[in-house]
Amino acid sequence: MPNNFTRCRSELQKRRKAYCLPQRPCPDSAIQPWQLRRLIALPWIAIDVISTTLNLPFFPSRPAEASFPVRESRMNHHPHASTSHPINSRALVFHQSGRPLELREFPLPELQAGEMLVEITCSTICGSDLHTIHGDRPVAGPTVLGHETIGRILRFCPTGSPPTDVAGNRLAAGDRVTWSVAASCGDCFHCRHALPQKCDTLFKYGHETIDRHPLSGGLADFCHLTSGTAVVRVPDALSDLVACPANCATATVAGALRVAAGCATKSVLIHGAGMLGLTAAAMATWQNAAAVIVTDLSAQRLARAREFGATHTVQIGPDASALSEAIHRITDGRGIDLALEMSGSPAAVEQSLDLLRIGGQLVLVGSVFPTRPAQLLPEKIVRKVLRIDGLHNYTPADLSDAIEFLVAAAGEFPFASLVGTEIELAEMNAYLARNGDADHIRVAVRARKSGDSAS
Ligand SMILES: [Zn+2]
Ligand SMILES: [Zn+2]
Repeated sequence: MPNNFTRCRSELQKRRKAYCLPQRPCPDSAIQPWQLRRLIALPWIAIDVISTTLNLPFFPSRPAEASFPVRESRMNHHPHASTSHPINSRALVFHQSGRPLELREFPLPELQAGEMLVEITCSTICGSDLHTIHGDRPVAGPTVLGHETIGRILRFCPTGSPPTDVAGNRLAAGDRVTWSVAASCGDCFHCRHALPQKCDTLFKYGHETIDRHPLSGGLADFCHLTSGTAVVRVPDALSDLVACPANCATATVAGALRVAAGCATKSVLIHGAGMLGLTAAAMATWQNAAAVIVTDLSAQRLARAREFGATHTVQIGPDASALSEAIHRITDGRGIDLALEMSGSPAAVEQSLDLLRIGGQLVLVGSVFPTRPAQLLPEKIVRKVLRIDGLHNYTPADLSDAIEFLVAAAGEFPFASLVGTEIELAEMNAYLARNGDADHIRVAVRARKSGDSAS
């Protein structure tokens, strides 16, 4: 099997510096960008503007790259009533668990330098969003949930440096893109120590309150990207349903395998066959792992894991020895090279330490909710020379790797089959009321249902 993903990694790692969009604020001008655009698009309105603004410069033509909304009215227009001049965006507002999501309209923002507006084409709902909706994960509300999102760039702030993607290439209106779940400053202690996802002034999509940044979530018609967001182009060959989880599960797994220095020739144990575990199985297979062993409580999920490259599956049950016997057999008694904990189970953490070979590595990813403490013997870690790493979220380079992986490998693994249902934004409450779709890992949400389209 070709391994384009591995071959691309060193190339991708050179790109790390280019991920932040410009930070400069718009210049303090008496003339706001929308006033200039109004002059350019509708000269007769200039009389009104001139009456309130002095010393207007003359612009011979409107900028070529972007289309701009004309703000002659604050009436509530449906954003798609005139696709070239939307002025509002619908968004589903989460207030608190147990209360229906509220479909509201928000005016589209006036963009500051480094910002852009994206028209959302598709979002998938992450398990963490469902935890929030069901009250299992506290989130400050009201907020617009959803962070697995792709869309097309509608416009940028016309001032400031031209925006670029993670690779440093210029972006243009109409580009199909995804973006990092977190935006970072690029300059604080954590950003300078290769941990931009822990930036001191972190901004997270799908997590910000609407009074701070109303259009930050994927459950909306538009998303307002702030400066410091890592943006990656999504090739048209990649379908919406496959591309949406890239900026959550796929990028996180890419980050975990970066921490593990890849999977080539390794025996890899993956705990949990959810979105993270299935993606990890596919990525480990793609990186030529010697064996990919997946565990889960569900036989149905393990059957799916085999479609994603698992060479062995072990159903977790009362008999804990089944897994250790399987690992003993698969590794000729030596133990596993790499364990990826994607389930969040403390028992899986404890078991991994027993199953690792001397010099093996455990990467913890799934423990993103409170659990009982895991018991571990420090002496075991020392004597077995084990390595334990934690990974939360990812870097911009991981997101770029995730898209590269999906482009290269989506034909090999049935990622699109993980999304079972497509609903419209306005149908979300009804979908939640019927308890979703237990047979599939994701639901896709679109402004309007129009089929899975790459264009
Ligand atoms: Zn997520
Ligand atoms: Zn920072």
